[in-house]
Amino acid sequence: MRDPENVRIRTLVAAATVALLLTATSCAENEPETAVTLAPLAVEPVAAPTTIPPGPGPPDGPTTTTTDPGVVEGLDELDDLDGFDGIEAGSEVVIGRSVEDRPITVVRRGDEGGTRVLVVGVIHGDEDAGADIVDVLRLADVPDGVELWLVRSMNPDGQAAQERHNAHGVDLNRNFSHNWGPVAEPGNWEYAGEGPASEPETQAMTALGEGVHPDLVLWYHQDLFRISPGSGRDGEIRARYAGLTGLPLVEVTGGTYTGTASQWSRTVVDSGGVGFTIELGPSLTPDEVTTHAEAVLTIASEM
Ligand SMILES: [Zn+2]
Repeated sequence: MRDPENVRIRTLVAAATVALLLTATSCAENEPETAVTLAPLAVEPVAAPTTIPPGPGPPDGPTTTTTDPGVVEGLDELDDLDGFDGIEAGSEVVIGRSVEDRPITVVRRGDEGGTRVLVVGVIHGDEDAGADIVDVLRLADVPDGVELWLVRSMNPDGQAAQERHNAHGVDLNRNFSHNWGPVAEPGNWEYAGEGPASEPETQAMTALGEGVHPDLVLWYHQDLFRISPGSGRDGEIRARYAGLTGLPLVEVTGGTYTGTASQWSRTVVDSGGVGFTIELGPSLTPDEVTTHAEAVLTIASEM
């Protein structure tokens, strides 16, 4: 197991690095005038992840992972609250549990009643660079009129194993109930599960989406380095995010896109709402993490 103190120190070092990089990026030319620039961190409204929650894991194998999928222990459970409205800004709540009983959590931040932005850092467990973006958003100043709902990972088992699927071998990005189809068989990279929203991770996210009705939902993946173009307002927002982060607007192809998270998310957004996938590259530097976090806050504040 990873030493929690070690993780805490790494987290503090990462935060300090972000603060330094913010100083550097604020001097950059060519930044759009209206783009949000993150201020150096003053307070820590939500504790950063410090421990890996227990899971069975391999009996003798190494348990070290490149990215910590853990959350702080002792969190409130959604079942004990008055629904999603009972989640106070600044708090982190367990909204469900994975196949291997790891908690899936949401952090609510910012203006209650503002533009609601749901950000999901990880859905495919071996594509977890988006967790770093969520970690910055967990600490950043939130612009007025914006409310963040932050899910660091909806697939903590896959992330712990550095594996695309959940612990049932299901591709969670084919398991959502909207437009679900029986894709492939167990063992296949796109296996959609036994039925619509058959997986506990999908059920947790479905309840969150239906309970919160966000205005914008962002899903991070790797490593195609692109955002699929859209039309109308949806297309404008995608293009804005792409422009802020340097991602090209290029269609994502090559899969069977039934039961996907982004399609489902467009069924729960309020009218005029938007949900789309962001395909990051193979890795993110700390300043790229900051750029993406700023882009999230910028497009949210412009909605
Ligand atoms: Zn993916």
